[in-house]
Amino acid sequence: MPDDCLFCKIVAGELPSEIVQEDEHTLAFMDINPWTRGHALVIPRAHSRNLYEVGEDDLRHTTAGAKRLAERMRDALGCDGVNLLNACEPAAWQTVFHFHVHVIPRYDDDPLQLPVRPRRAEADELAQVATELR
Ligand code: AMP
Ligand code: ZN
Repeated sequence: MPDDCLFCKIVAGELPSEIVQEDEHTLAFMDINPWTRGHALVIPRAHSRNLYEVGEDDLRHTTAGAKRLAERMRDALGCDGVNLLNACEPAAWQTVFHFHVHVIPRYDDDPLQLPVRPRRAEADELAQVATELR
């Protein structure tokens, strides 16, 4: 574990956090800058930088934890929906480099908005990028 990893420090109990769910492999705690009421993060206890590096078992445990927490938010907070969000590398808005999934409860009257205006692509553009990905 890197000495300066905030989330490893939370796992080790060296930094305070509001833990809401935990198991052998994962921990979930409140985000200190919540986008909505109840916004939480689920992390594997084991350090990995992000989606590129996380092992598939830790990924499975983390997403399963996110699902459990989403259901808990629905039942305990009465949210109307949930967004799961992951940021991988600074280009994708990652700021803390220990893999985590945001679980963001959504409310019909919350102020969040889509950060993009989706635009329909031409068929040849889709075909070209699909070829690159295959
Ligand atoms: P990201 O930008 O996707 O890497 O998300 C990092 C998240 O961690 C941000 O939403 C921060 O508000 C949150 N965060 C940073 N430090 C802490 C902390 N000590 N406890 C809880 N959440 C934190
Ligand atoms: Zn870490």
